[in-house]
Amino acid sequence: MVTTAQPRLLDHVVSAHQFDRDLLEHVVARASALDGVRDRRLDGRIMATLFYEPSTRTRLSFESAMVRLGGSVIGTEAAREFSSAIKGETLEDTIRMVEAYADVIVLRHDEAGAAGRAAVVARVPIVNAGDGPGEHPTQALLDLFTIHRELGRVDGLHVVLCGDLRHGRTARSLALLLTRYEGVRMSFVAPAVVQMEPDILSLLETRRVPYTVTDNLRGAVTDCDVVYQTRIQKERFTDPGEFGRARGDTRIDARLMERLPQRAIVMHPLPRVDEIDPEVDADPRAAYFRQARNGVAVRMALLEMLLGETSPA
Ligand code: ASP
Repeated sequence: MVTTAQPRLLDHVVSAHQFDRDLLEHVVARASALDGVRDRRLDGRIMATLFYEPSTRTRLSFESAMVRLGGSVIGTEAAREFSSAIKGETLEDTIRMVEAYADVIVLRHDEAGAAGRAAVVARVPIVNAGDGPGEHPTQALLDLFTIHRELGRVDGLHVVLCGDLRHGRTARSLALLLTRYEGVRMSFVAPAVVQMEPDILSLLETRRVPYTVTDNLRGAVTDCDVVYQTRIQKERFTDPGEFGRARGDTRIDARLMERLPQRAIVMHPLPRVDEIDPEVDADPRAAYFRQARNGVAVRMALLEMLLGETSPA
């Protein structure tokens, strides 16, 4: 096999803001190329997963991605309880230690901005695997890859984002990525207590991306291409009254699916609680389990880009 050295394309993955159109197209192309690959291109490299909040898909798909490229994995879940954080160590000091043990650190934390803080002190790449209600850029990249794969394009689509848009970090990151495409339209469907935050809405205005804010899912889906449903992020609420008002009328069931165009897809970053009725799962437009599977290929692409390894010519 002939190999050519590839320059490192990314220093860290902290925010969706980092990804312009060219970089997004590169991620999509590399994820397509790496899907199903098992080789040794990251042989000898070590990835640490440092998770202060629960995770199933993100942690396991990162681990699977690293192993499929020949690398090794170390890690701690429940890092708040099982790492020196419980003794009072700062995140910055923990990162200064873990970078001595690994070539890349995948970090999930409960505070918005934590990955950015880690990247400031780290001498190895930091990957934001979710920072509280802040962002979840690698999920948004796999969401974008899924839209490409399912619908063949992103330009010109009407994307409905629905559920807990205020605390849902995946919806925030995805909305940012979608602004990089031509002719995209977004509808934000949620009760007022969990609507999309003004920082994202004002960025859409600056980039001249048309959007609608509503609590009417039945109205929004009739001409959509994608419905992106999200879980109400129960763990982020301090006021039980607000949590009670957060669901509104945004559940997806068979009746709602009748209003959805045949070409459209339903996505969800998972885990699902009750916001999509399981009766929808058998509908071919339900793309959420296919979407979760796409996480491995996208994370392989990111690890390749971060570690600047060689790849087949
Ligand atoms: N798994 C996603 C996240 O970590 C979505 C969720 O938890 O609802 O943000």
